[in-house]
Amino acid sequence: MAQPMSLATVASKFSNESAAWEYVEELRWNGTPECPRCGSQDVFYMAPRTDELRTTRTGMKSFRRVWRCRGCKKQFSVLIGTIFEGTKIPLSKWLMAIYLMSAGKNGVAALELQRDLGITYKSAWFMVHRIREAMANIGSTKMFGTIIADETWVGGKPANKHGRSKKSEILSSSEGKRVYKKTDKTPVLTVINPDTDVARSTVVVDTTGKTLRKVIADQVDMAASDLMTDESTSYKSFSSEWASHQSVNHSRGEYVRDGVSTNKAEGFFSQMKRSIDGTHHGVSPEHLGRYANEFDFRYGHRKISDGERASAMVARAEGASISYRMLISRGPVAMGTRPRPVGRPGPR
Ligand SMILES: [Zn+2]
Repeated sequence: MAQPMSLATVASKFSNESAAWEYVEELRWNGTPECPRCGSQDVFYMAPRTDELRTTRTGMKSFRRVWRCRGCKKQFSVLIGTIFEGTKIPLSKWLMAIYLMSAGKNGVAALELQRDLGITYKSAWFMVHRIREAMANIGSTKMFGTIIADETWVGGKPANKHGRSKKSEILSSSEGKRVYKKTDKTPVLTVINPDTDVARSTVVVDTTGKTLRKVIADQVDMAASDLMTDESTSYKSFSSEWASHQSVNHSRGEYVRDGVSTNKAEGFFSQMKRSIDGTHHGVSPEHLGRYANEFDFRYGHRKISDGERASAMVARAEGASISYRMLISRGPVAMGTRPRPVGRPGPR
């Protein structure tokens, strides 16, 4: 297996573009190259004719490592079907970006990448969003077991700048009733399995029982799970679909009772908000879903080193963690789809 990245490997090894290609090949194929089109392992490396570099049609020198498949007779590179496919940004810069994004708790802003990697802001912005898309739990199986579900409201600056209709924000709750005020904040629903540290966040249009049920039913096997929530009435409407449902009453100052708690969700949300405010200085609602992917990934990988997290991210980014079948059935487009708010806005 490829070694986890460290700042030293990133600085030395990935200053060499060929080494970056070989590193990604090792991570994705683990010594057994495979045709990304037909799945055949009967493939061979097409060495450049003269030197280490290949000359493209336009006469440029290219580091692209090309393989040929005896099964489908086509050429391919390790980048096919990955978030790196078709990129003009050097692969070594992608790996550095992934390392920088994975180090620390708060991630990295596009502006920092622009400066650290010596690339344009446009390239940096594109890279961070592609990398976030790769962090989404695509094709994952449904969660089950103990499940904490909770919502938070994110953003809202600058307030109603474009005259959009305002959403509702929970001001306070007492006796299970919520008081709303008009706001530009965007609701995010997160489900966490506290035993496996898997977190999945979804940008939602509202926090009604109907909306929450729709999102959760897609991601959680409810009949095989024990639900923990706060006193929100939204969960009561589909309470009977779970193996069990227990809640703590925050408005009465109750945070933990007999092992029932939503504290992990509160912790997740406060880290997410610190990162959004501190590193990214606010996130627009249309990009919030991708930031949420990053926080989900970060949460599930928080107990390992920066280098291990970076390698896990590369594995995710270049498809090593998804099967060939998933690649051909969903295609690279699936990795690039924009997360959209789930559910429909209710009547005004
Ligand atoms: Zn093939």
